[in-house]
Amino acid sequence: MAQCPHCMTEIHDDASICPSCGAMRGVWGHPIGNWLRAGNFMFGIAAFLVVLGIALGGWVSSGYATTWFDGLIAFLFLVPFMLLFAALGFALRSIIPRLPQHWYR
Ligand SMILES: [Zn+2]
Repeated sequence: MAQCPHCMTEIHDDASICPSCGAMRGVWGHPIGNWLRAGNFMFGIAAFLVVLGIALGGWVSSGYATTWFDGLIAFLFLVPFMLLFAALGFALRSIIPRLPQHWYR
């Protein structure tokens, strides 16, 4: 059993909210679940950018004076942003659950 540091109530180890005072367990003031959702959101943005990059590349390469290579360049232009958001999502999902959790109220 864990103990709430605010009201000293015994709490189930899996509980993330203190039933007697409403304190919440989390990392940097937010429950783990919020961080994981934020991580999923980052993955969503990364996936969206992949689709956007393919669409942009297709659109650019279908132009009158452009080739598939121009489309590839357009796609590559978005790759750093895809990687950035994918890395953010990965970091949130892998690092946050390992950080020490605290009780917030
Ligand atoms: Zn409490």
